[in-house]
Amino acid sequence: MRDRTPIPCPECDREKYFEGLCYACTNRKVRESYESMSDGQIQTTVQNIIQNIETIGKWEQVYKDFTGLLAYRDINTREIADAAFRNKIYNPATLYRDASPELQDELIALINDPYCAHAGDILSCLSVIGNDNVQSAFYQLEKNPLPWRKNLYVDPSFYAEQAGWTFGADGTRIQLNYDSCYSLIKESREDNAVLVARARAEECAICSCQTIDILSLDGRDQRLSFLGLPGQLNIPICPNCASMCDRTIVRYQLDGESTFEVVEPYTNEKYISDADLTSLVNSKMVLSQTEKPAYFSCGNDDVSTIGGNPDWIQDWQYEDCPDCQKKMKLLAALQWDQLIEASEGTLYIEICTDCSVIVTIHQQT
Ligand SMILES: [Zn+2]
Ligand SMILES: [Zn+2]
Ligand SMILES: [Zn+2]
Repeated sequence: MRDRTPIPCPECDREKYFEGLCYACTNRKVRESYESMSDGQIQTTVQNIIQNIETIGKWEQVYKDFTGLLAYRDINTREIADAAFRNKIYNPATLYRDASPELQDELIALINDPYCAHAGDILSCLSVIGNDNVQSAFYQLEKNPLPWRKNLYVDPSFYAEQAGWTFGADGTRIQLNYDSCYSLIKESREDNAVLVARARAEECAICSCQTIDILSLDGRDQRLSFLGLPGQLNIPICPNCASMCDRTIVRYQLDGESTFEVVEPYTNEKYISDADLTSLVNSKMVLSQTEKPAYFSCGNDDVSTIGGNPDWIQDWQYEDCPDCQKKMKLLAALQWDQLIEASEGTLYIEICTDCSVIVTIHQQT
């Protein structure tokens, strides 16, 4: 018989069946190592990325360094983009975030070639650049498709969504995420700007699980002023149904009053235990004191965020507002395993401030 005695992680006590740190603590330490790099170390690492750019597709050191420095140090990618382009490397598209105007023009010239061979990749790279020039090029290409469009499944406006923007039928820009990003972290500090998973009195009408306010945001806190929501915003959900349904629709007022409905539940069975619920409502997460880089979610560590660019587990998914049908904006992304041990997936929270409506969607591998 194999010994199945669990071994607690020396840092966080989480039980697992291998020696050493758990995955969560390993990933956190990697993030902290990038966060503590000196400017000199960052420069050296960026030069190493440039010199070895052809290895980035192997997902090894160069890939880790690039995503780590982008996520945790917000590096300027201009020189890296030049090196990637010289080597015809287009993945990850974020390599091109700070591409020079000259390189941007070269990419636009490539996509204007009727038989562009890497149209999907180049649309992705241009999406991440995402300025007015890219937007007008995309709009023209959407109105007057070139032959390469037949080989793609979706239009340029859909590619743009992966970088947090798109445009309407008249070409007007629609922003799908916030530039500012804060994270939610476990810290024992009094901070009421964001309360995570606060218990509510009522039970879910479908599965009779206790409901929670997954987030209670005080939009008057200076850190959250970028949201433009000057009041108390509560986001009630059923923690059991949230991952067992198509989506949850929340209607809110800025005085803290909110209602929710679960859309198309797959089951009315309750999978969440009382111990899970206790862990959930005692998660003690607070808003970070300082702003984080816009791509903070996209490094190796599982982090929960308010604003910023999300890390989608499946394809990017910006919902249409159930009331006005306009595209919704990503407000927050929460990692379930930070709230309930050994749980999976991410809860994405999207908002239409015109209609005071929120939709939550769940993705997992
Ligand atoms: Zn651990
Ligand atoms: Zn429920
Ligand atoms: Zn709306």
